[in-house]
Amino acid sequence: MPNTTPDIPLSSFQLQSRSLEAVWHPCTQMKQHEIYPLVPIVSGKGVWLYDAAGERYLDAISSWWVNLFGHTHPYINAAIRDQLEKIEHVMLAGFTHEPVVSLSERLKQMAPGSLGHCFYASDGASAIEIALKMSFHYWQLYDQPQKSRFISLQNDYHGETLGALSVTDIAIFRETYAPLLRQCAHVPTPDWRYAEAGESPESYAIRAAASLEHYLAENHAQTAALILEPLVQGATGMGMYHPIYLQRAREICTQYQVHLIADEIAVGFGRTGTLLACNQVNIAPDFLCLSKGLSGGYLPLSVVMTTDPIFQAFYDDKTARAFLHSHSHTGNALACRAALATLDLIEQNQVIEANKAKAAYLNKIAVPLLAHPKVKNFRNCGMIWAFEVDTDERDFAAKCFQAGLKQQLVLRPLEKTIYFMPPYIINEQEMDLLVNGTLQVLDTISN
Ligand SMILES: *Cc1c(COP(=O)(O)O)cnc(C)c1O
Repeated sequence: MPNTTPDIPLSSFQLQSRSLEAVWHPCTQMKQHEIYPLVPIVSGKGVWLYDAAGERYLDAISSWWVNLFGHTHPYINAAIRDQLEKIEHVMLAGFTHEPVVSLSERLKQMAPGSLGHCFYASDGASAIEIALKMSFHYWQLYDQPQKSRFISLQNDYHGETLGALSVTDIAIFRETYAPLLRQCAHVPTPDWRYAEAGESPESYAIRAAASLEHYLAENHAQTAALILEPLVQGATGMGMYHPIYLQRAREICTQYQVHLIADEIAVGFGRTGTLLACNQVNIAPDFLCLSKGLSGGYLPLSVVMTTDPIFQAFYDDKTARAFLHSHSHTGNALACRAALATLDLIEQNQVIEANKAKAAYLNKIAVPLLAHPKVKNFRNCGMIWAFEVDTDERDFAAKCFQAGLKQQLVLRPLEKTIYFMPPYIINEQEMDLLVNGTLQVLDTISN
């Protein structure tokens, strides 16, 4: 039996212990739950999650960055209910349905360049696998089989299936699973925290792009694609970089005939202040991967969008020239309806504009946070905020999570990085609570 704190009511306690017996939780050393209790959530409304004891927690990280408009949103709920009465799911090979067609058309309208062909999967990592396979297969079809390698940025994260993990740069993952992974070069990150003293984020990004060019000048003949997280490198600690890097990366990839895969799984749908991060420099990648916010965080859904030339390369009489890939739930109708409702909400509420005012408010009230002696590298991009906490506290992330709950906040630091990535519906009062609660949390953390 796990230890638990005495103030947890019995029903919560039972749910916790049953969960620990039967559920293997993700991204978790299960033994840690001998010390830290699980939080049994029974309902959600707006930015709030409610536990079995009636306590509420502000979902400051949008349930792992998926939620855009809060929990149990009436409009998205209604769309899913309506779809539920029509058709919940049908396989997408040989069949089609209105939600998947409408969603594809709307995504095509929204995306830059000629990214008009939508290939669906269920989660982010699967979208990455698809983009990598498609890029590789494209070069095969063009009699360039030697173009079979991928490169990504130092500190990039693209998911945890084997292909996605190969292009992910997280030391602990790589070391543990190295024998299963394909070799992948990671070119220097443009993250401005790596800049020399006195070097601007822009100059540093230009310097990082020069390293990319240097690498591709030598290795383009073997390289199928560069994959990157545009503007914000999320999972490795919310590293942020100057958009000039994206512009340079696009130019360099075009020059050296290497595909550019933009992994906007975390940053798409307004997170960075524009609908897509790529919009900030008006570039179009060859592949665009979307998931997380795509369905408003409701249902697992992802999509890879690609261009006419790539689609055309596979268009042939021979089966082997088709793209050889499928998932059972490809294009799930309920998930597509949730996505359509999400796109409606983005448009109807002029979310990109509204978020600018919210971000300005949060930046204004965050001044004491910036000034806090333990806070370093405070940074903001659109609806993402992050900073490092100067502490030697072992187990900082777990302790901070616990201290956050006591302040009614869901904070889940990435090592020493605390970040906010709230649902877009957060209001001023809730932002006050977020900032003030975080200040309290910092004061409970010892040096
Ligand atoms: C979350 C994430 C993924 C993986 O998505 P999953 O749905 O968790 O498989 C890939 N890339 C980025 C940038 C992500 O943030």
